[in-house]
Amino acid sequence: MARYTEAVCRMCRREGSKLFLKGLRCDTEKCAYERRQNPPGMHTFRRGKLTDYGIHLREKQKVKHYYGILERQFRRYFDRAERSKGNTGKVLMSLLERRLDNVVHRLGFGLSRAAARQLVCHGHVTVNGKRVDISSYEVRVGDVIGIKERKSSAELVQASLAESNREVPDFLVRVDGQKPEGHIVRLPEAEDVSIPVEPQLIVELCSK
Ligand code: SF4
Repeated sequence: MARYTEAVCRMCRREGSKLFLKGLRCDTEKCAYERRQNPPGMHTFRRGKLTDYGIHLREKQKVKHYYGILERQFRRYFDRAERSKGNTGKVLMSLLERRLDNVVHRLGFGLSRAAARQLVCHGHVTVNGKRVDISSYEVRVGDVIGIKERKSSAELVQASLAESNREVPDFLVRVDGQKPEGHIVRLPEAEDVSIPVEPQLIVELCSK
């Protein structure tokens, strides 16, 4: 599975927005974006204003980095959103928000999306009682996201829940306890995304 392996804080500085890619660190004074908000690289202060194309491109890159996906996968989501009924931008954000790694993260089972993806890929997560190890798995209304009945799985999730301070979004309900689980009560909408995004800019760029 191809993935971005370089320093992730650069992405926040590049996109000019906190993308919360590092779990707890993002809420501390160690956050690189809080300390330096200029884009990474040399001579960045000398660069001029973004062009119209640049503004559109940055919005797309921001969403890709936020969900940890690469161009080809993003294109597939966009093509599906374009073929679907409804507003393409809103459908696109809903599809991305339905990814299993995102849902696991938003439930607080993983402190970052990368940690949540690792939980899924290592077989710690179940959907409706069955193990699912595909991070792009798309959740549906009524699905129950649980944890495998293994001591190590429970310990990993309990440790994240003890430290997580993020709110669970409205489209999910978390049931805490010995065996925490999450319920999908409705499909996510663009408004459920936890960072400011303008999907329309992405649609304008990708439809050209
Ligand atoms: Fe972004 Fe988190 Fe790094 Fe801050 S600590 S720059 S929010 S990844």
